[in-house]
Amino acid sequence: MARILIVEDNVDNYELVRFLLERAGHETRWASGGREGIQMAKQEKPDLIIMDLSLPEMDGWTATERIKTDAETNHIPIAALTAHTLPGDRKRALDAGCDSYLSKPINIALFNETVSKLIAKSKHHSETRPEGDQE
Ligand code: MN
Repeated sequence: MARILIVEDNVDNYELVRFLLERAGHETRWASGGREGIQMAKQEKPDLIIMDLSLPEMDGWTATERIKTDAETNHIPIAALTAHTLPGDRKRALDAGCDSYLSKPINIALFNETVSKLIAKSKHHSETRPEGDQE
């Protein structure tokens, strides 16, 4: 079980992602914009963030950069989830700091596999985190 923050402005996409994650036994939180996503990442310290890239107020690339350059949140894995499927978009997401890149429409097997992998990475980090840096 992990706590996962879904940053997504489209309600249908959000509902699908939430369904898949909760079916796998995870707890979810929702932010519908980039700024809210950054704020919730700081407050909630989720085990994983699923990040849409086209978002209101602040796009997912910028939000990812902010999360990954903040010492409080830079350990949280981020999976970009997006319909931007041109090779340049993938590179741009990885350059912004995304750990993984998933394209829409969602491939459920690949989605589940990627989520499991990133959570394992996140858990490993928290186990090896230095003393005094506990939640
Ligand atoms: Mn969107």
